[in-house]
Amino acid sequence: MSDVSLETIVSLCKRRGFIYQGSEIYGGLAGTWDYGPLGIQLKRNISNLWWKTFVEDRDDMYGMDAAILMNQKVWQTSGHVSGFNDPLFECDNCKNRFRADHLVEAWVEKHPSEVEKIEHPAYNQSAATLNDYKNLFKMACPNCGKAELSDVRQFNMMFKTHVGAIHDVTSVSYLRPETAQGMFVNFKNVVDSFYPDIPFGMAQIGKAFRNEIAPRDFIFRVRELEQMEIEVFVQPDTWRDQFDTWLELQKQFLLALGLPEERIHQVEIGPDDRAHYSKHSVDTEFDFPFGQKELLGCAYRTDYDLSKHQAASGKNLEYRPKDGGASYIPHVIEPTFGLDRSVLAVISSAYTEDEVNGEKRTYLKLPAHLAPVKVAVSPLLKNKPELVAKAREVYTVLKKEFGAVMWDDNGNIGKRYRRQDEIGTPYCVTIDFDTIEGDTKDTVTVRNRDTTKQERVSIDNLISTLTF
Ligand code: ATP
Repeated sequence: MSDVSLETIVSLCKRRGFIYQGSEIYGGLAGTWDYGPLGIQLKRNISNLWWKTFVEDRDDMYGMDAAILMNQKVWQTSGHVSGFNDPLFECDNCKNRFRADHLVEAWVEKHPSEVEKIEHPAYNQSAATLNDYKNLFKMACPNCGKAELSDVRQFNMMFKTHVGAIHDVTSVSYLRPETAQGMFVNFKNVVDSFYPDIPFGMAQIGKAFRNEIAPRDFIFRVRELEQMEIEVFVQPDTWRDQFDTWLELQKQFLLALGLPEERIHQVEIGPDDRAHYSKHSVDTEFDFPFGQKELLGCAYRTDYDLSKHQAASGKNLEYRPKDGGASYIPHVIEPTFGLDRSVLAVISSAYTEDEVNGEKRTYLKLPAHLAPVKVAVSPLLKNKPELVAKAREVYTVLKKEFGAVMWDDNGNIGKRYRRQDEIGTPYCVTIDFDTIEGDTKDTVTVRNRDTTKQERVSIDNLISTLTF
């Protein structure tokens, strides 16, 4: 578990313009969050790094951006209409609804001695074991305390909508609950356009929507989320090697985000807990402020999706090997990354407290390449036109070079440093009287976020001194 509390992270994110509650002035909308100016920049820096790593820097990956709304047949065929369910308990007394597996998990964690006393099977997501636990331990409703929880009911998590002016069964569509299907239905298009060698992958970043029974833990479990997904199409007998390769690549990406290796855990998922399409799944979990939870997933989807779409659409989705061998439906390895969970992991592991000159300091030790603001430029005093003019000159040069440069002349210099520390700005550049006269003319102070050390640097050398 991380040392910082989730409340501390939520409060910093709001105060400093990273993330706000969705629809806040109307009391919010559960499970939605809005990214503010710094949050969206951090999120973009993460997704740009992902796109560069997995799409631009590879020659076996094809980027995509499919529509969110898709023909309802896609979701019927993929099994999401019948099977994209979460188990829920409803309290017969107060009518509150809870995610059954989370309730059982929390109960077991809280009552280890009671669980030890009774012989019982290991629980999983199946309705049978969740019901057994509820009955065996007479579990009560967390809201009203009455032991009147219903048996498990399956709740479909897709948001349903209608496309067009007529609302009937033919106009039903869904907000996609995963980006993956957009790639499966375009598999033939990409093969026809590029005829790639196998293995090859398709990748996309985009919104997905899940009507979570109980959204919680800030941006960890939301109803509108963003995913970065890859479908790797492989020869069936090579799936295991490909799976292991991609699992390792997922971990390497997390290390590139600056996450500490000791807080990353790969956990194999048992057959009863896997998604309906998966034959083998490994989740990459992370020590979040509220415990070790899933950050990424890797699933072996076999030929499940392509076979089903071929049968339902009547289109041939086989791959024809270039060596003239027999055509076949490729198998799929799916490394999937949650973008919002990545943002949360990055912020919570960057959060640091230390002491500077006897005073407590809070700062985000973000890797410089992810920091939403790279450099803050300040005139020492904002009421001295000669300092302001010189500072503007330096600001303009740095902004042109680095883009994400902030002008900051609010409050005294100490306050500016604290504010920039809290948003993770690696460097503060200050223009003072020594910049405009005397032996040190045309030099500025560069202050380093992590060491708080200040050094004098000539303006000519400034760009090469600031490294990201
Ligand atoms: P969980 O078990 O936590 O509900 P999942 O196993 O259903 O997640 P996947 O279907 O594998 O998740 O989705 C791929 C990735 O999308 C996850 O690893 C996670 O990072 C992200 N994700 C899934 N659901 C949510 C959500 N409700 N809010 C934020 N991110 C999510």
